[in-house]
Amino acid sequence: MDHFDYRDGVLHAEDVSLAAIAEAVGTPAYVYSRATLARHARVFREGLAALPSVHLAYAVKANPNLAVLKVLAAEGFGADVVSVGEMERALAAGMPASGIVFSGVGKTGAEMARALAAGIGQFNLESEEEGVELAAIAAALGKTAQAALRVNPDVDAGTHGKISTGKAENKFGVPYDRADGIYARLAALSGSGPGLAMRGLAVHIGSQLASLAPLEAAFTKMGELMRAIRAQGLAVTHMDLGGGIGVPYKAGEIFPSPAEYGAMVARVTADWGATLMFEPGRVIAGNSGVLLTRVIRVKPGVSCPFVIVDAAMNDLARPALYDAWHDFLAVAPTGEAMTANIVGPICESSDTFAMGRPIDAVAPGDLAVFRTAGAYGATMASTYNSRALVPEVMVDGNRWAVVAERIDPATILAAERVPEWLD
Ligand SMILES: *Cc1c(COP(=O)(O)O)cnc(C)c1O
Repeated sequence: MDHFDYRDGVLHAEDVSLAAIAEAVGTPAYVYSRATLARHARVFREGLAALPSVHLAYAVKANPNLAVLKVLAAEGFGADVVSVGEMERALAAGMPASGIVFSGVGKTGAEMARALAAGIGQFNLESEEEGVELAAIAAALGKTAQAALRVNPDVDAGTHGKISTGKAENKFGVPYDRADGIYARLAALSGSGPGLAMRGLAVHIGSQLASLAPLEAAFTKMGELMRAIRAQGLAVTHMDLGGGIGVPYKAGEIFPSPAEYGAMVARVTADWGATLMFEPGRVIAGNSGVLLTRVIRVKPGVSCPFVIVDAAMNDLARPALYDAWHDFLAVAPTGEAMTANIVGPICESSDTFAMGRPIDAVAPGDLAVFRTAGAYGATMASTYNSRALVPEVMVDGNRWAVVAERIDPATILAAERVPEWLD
C-alpha cells in the first residue's frame, strides 16, 4: 500500500498535488512519500515480530537520500552500506554506528580503516583475503572488527540475471563448500588482542525476488552451515539473511508479504539461537516514490506513437539496465486511453521505458509519473547527455520539500578543467 492516489482527478502524493510540485520544482523530479516509507518500515518490522532477536539494516543503495535515511532512522533501522560514502550518509542521518553493516565485494583498506574508526557494528566479508586484511588493519588501529562471512549458497534466485547474486558463478561471497574452512581460519586469526572477531554468516541471493522458495532454500543451507561451524567449537551468534524481497511493479501483481516472509524465516530459523539480521532495500523504498515527468512531444511511429517524456534513462536506469517495467500514469487523466511507446530524449535506443503499452492518453505538456521508482531510481541517476542530475522531493502530509536539488549542467561544466596545453 502507498500514499499516491487520485483526488479530484489529480494524482497526489499524500495531500499534495503532483501538478503543484511539478509547477514549483520542474520536471523530471522524484517524489517520495514519507508516510509510505514509514509504513513500509513498520510493516517489515511487524512481519518479523515473532522472531526473538532481530536487527534491521536498510540497504542504503536502494535510496540513499539523506531525508529518506532520516525517516528510516526514526523507525529504528540501521543501515547496510556498500561504501564509505554510504556509511557517511547513514551516520549523517543519525543512525548509530553500531547499527551499520558494511557489505560489498571490494572494500578498500582505507574504507575499512574509516569504518573501524567510526565504530560500525559488522563487516560482511566477501573473501578470506578480505578478512586477513581487515584483521591486520584492525589490529594496527587497536580496534576489533566484528565480522560475518558472506556465503554464496549457489541458489538461483529466479530473478533478472543482473540482480542475481547467489549463484556459484556470481562474484559475491565465498563458495558454500569452502565456507566452514574459511570461517575457521579467520576465527583463528582473532587472538586475545584487537583484530578480527568472527561472529556470523551472511547471505544475499539477489533482488526483486518474486517467490520465497529460493530464500528458504538459501536459509536452510545457511542453517546447516551454521551448525557445521558450531560443531567445530566456533561461535556463530549472528546470521545476516540479506534483503531481496520483490515489489509489484505492475498493478495487480502479487508478491510475498513481509508477514509471509517473516513466517518462513521463523519456521526455518526456529532452533538457530542467533540474532537475525535483515537488509531490506527495495521493499522499503520502491513503492514510496514516483518519477514525475512531462510529455515533451508525441510523434507518430510505425505501429503506435512515441510519447517522448522529459525523463530519461539517466534519471531512471532500470528499464534500460534490467528491462524493468514501471507503470506509467497521467497525473490528470482524461479517461481516454492510447497505446504508445514511451521514450526519453537520450540518444540511445535503450532510452525506452515501454513499447506498445496501453496507457492513459497523454498530449504534449501533460504530466505523468513512472510508479514504483523509489528504489534504484535517483540513486542510479547520471548526467549522461549533459542532462541535469534529477532533483528529489519528499512529501509529508500537506507539506513538502526539495530533499535533493537539481544539479544543472552548468554546475557540472564548472567542475571541468581545460589544461593550459589545450588552450
Ligand atoms: C542490494 C543489497 C541488499 C538489498 O536488496 P533489496 O533487493 O533492495 O532488498 C541487501 N544486501 C546486500 C548485500 C545487497 O547488496
